Amino acid sequence: MKNLWNDQEAAKYTTDLEQRVYSSRLLGADPSLVLHGGGNTSVKARETDIFGEPVDILYVKGSGWDLASIEVPGFTPIRMDHLVKLAGLEALSDLQMVNEMKTHQTIASAPSGSVEAILHAALPYRYVDHTHADAVVTITNTEGGEGRIRDIYGDGVVIIPYIMPGFDLARLVAERFAAEATERTQGMVLMNHGIFSFGETAREAYDRMISLVDKAERYLAAQNAWELPKAADKRAPSTAMIEIAELRHQVSAVAERPMLLRRHTGKAVMQFCDHPELARLSQQGPATPDHVIRTKRVPMLGRDVAAYEEAYRNYFEEHAAHARTPVKMLDPAPRVILDPDLGMITVGKTAKEASINADIYAHTMQIIQRAERLGGWKALPARDIFDMEYWELEQAKLRHGGSAPEFQGEVVLVTGAASGIGRACVDSLMTRGAAVVGLDIDPAIESLYPRPDFLGLVADVSDAVALRSALEQAVKRFGGLDMLVLNAGVFPGGTRIAELSDRVWDQVMRINLDANLMLMRECYPLLRVAPRYGRVVVIGSKNVPAPGPGAAAYSASKAALNQLARVAALEWGADGIRINSLHPDAVFDTGLWTEEVLQARAKHYEMTVEAYKTKNLLKTAVSSRDVAELAAAMCGSLFAKTTASQIPVDGGNDRVI
Ligand code: ZN
Repeated sequence: MKNLWNDQEAAKYTTDLEQRVYSSRLLGADPSLVLHGGGNTSVKARETDIFGEPVDILYVKGSGWDLASIEVPGFTPIRMDHLVKLAGLEALSDLQMVNEMKTHQTIASAPSGSVEAILHAALPYRYVDHTHADAVVTITNTEGGEGRIRDIYGDGVVIIPYIMPGFDLARLVAERFAAEATERTQGMVLMNHGIFSFGETAREAYDRMISLVDKAERYLAAQNAWELPKAADKRAPSTAMIEIAELRHQVSAVAERPMLLRRHTGKAVMQFCDHPELARLSQQGPATPDHVIRTKRVPMLGRDVAAYEEAYRNYFEEHAAHARTPVKMLDPAPRVILDPDLGMITVGKTAKEASINADIYAHTMQIIQRAERLGGWKALPARDIFDMEYWELEQAKLRHGGSAPEFQGEVVLVTGAASGIGRACVDSLMTRGAAVVGLDIDPAIESLYPRPDFLGLVADVSDAVALRSALEQAVKRFGGLDMLVLNAGVFPGGTRIAELSDRVWDQVMRINLDANLMLMRECYPLLRVAPRYGRVVVIGSKNVPAPGPGAAAYSASKAALNQLARVAALEWGADGIRINSLHPDAVFDTGLWTEEVLQARAKHYEMTVEAYKTKNLLKTAVSSRDVAELAAAMCGSLFAKTTASQIPVDGGNDRVI
């Protein structure tokens, strides 16, 4: 375990709270300590209130912040006297506790403080750090784990038996700590949960965390339980594109909403999925209770979604009766799927969730295998895990959760996505919550949006091999395809038929027509199993209803594409796939309209370029965004009962009317 403290860096953080920010980020930077919003930290400070009177404040990590990127406003200031008084109560529900914290914070706009705030307040140290260090949860999730922790740390830590986070844990910690802590105490181990360290300075608390976790790692190494055997090279996993899309269909049906699936086939993953005792190892529970809220109690093994659903319902019914407060069942769909052929597939409502679940389970696999080498992986009993999964605070979040964006959990593929109308479609669909696969021949596509819900791939849409590979990558990343926006196209400058070469004609047909046929054909098996039915939007052209002289190849290619879309609507209606076309005109903020082309067209109509740009009945300029918004609407509920429609987006054109 590496200590990342850097004096020069640390010196830039001057106040106690800024020091808290600095060392919290160091903890957050190491995924073997905390993952995605896990863990929490605090610092105690004395301040002066508005009356000029001293007030003791606990600054504790606010909910919604990640230690890796936390800033000063991410720490919630709560009055210490109130927290200490709360710790002395006999009982307090977690909802009451959250209310007491919220009503005693001194900055009204600060986020809600961590539910472990009372616990932090009860520890008599200025800086308190808490992580779910892999090495510690590995050891505490084994047979005889407590004895091992005692062997490793002696009286350097206070050991707390497992109890669910919340008020009861805070109370137990306050009691145990008062009874057992000595001047040699540097930290506290929470069985099946994680570890705390404390100090008078940010550095002391951080150094102690690193040294405590380092001891656990060394212990595992000494017991030959740290290095896992190198995974053997296996044959390359099959692409299994259709199987994955079908699996996504089933998972989404059980979840009653479209879900994204992300596939992982790394060596370590494949080795775990092949483990002869996979069922025993994987079906016990998570490594730390924090994870159950994201990944559910256990992964699904194989591809039988109905069996997983039934098992989940049984687990719910068995434990719901004993819940402390009435609970409502969560969707019974898996969040992690392990299959010897497919590898690990993680599931999420968003691409970010699926990716977080993958990180969590990758660590879980390692933790389980190390615990196994140490003497036997042993997770918490199902009942404790259930209590965490159905925590009243989590249930309250469900009641108050807002509505999801329109296309959340859905995947759209946009061609020609790096610029112009294509890029505008990416934006409009992403704003509505869709995960987007953008194809373009421009390499800029790859870095268009560095975020988990965008996959930019360089591909020539008229190249069958490149296209198939792009679809495979799309399905590996998001699990399927719900929407297709056929946008990529070329528009050669005005050429009269008498001068039109075969080469130009062929090239225009290949890109504007043939490539779209290929895309529709290859995407059909995926669109057919889209959870909310597939949708195709064709970016047509005014030239379909109203061709112009000098644009023979373009007009003919778009007219043929239009006819192709109409036939597709006839053939695919039975699958629920809708296909609608829009016919833009005079959209000048696109790559097609070079200054040269623009001038040529204006000259053709004997107009200035400016007049040419608003040459329509409404005398309005049509932008890429206008077109993209219509394309997004065509994928949405407004067009749920419409297929084979053709809508102009051209400011009104008397030739089209
Ligand atoms: Zn924790």
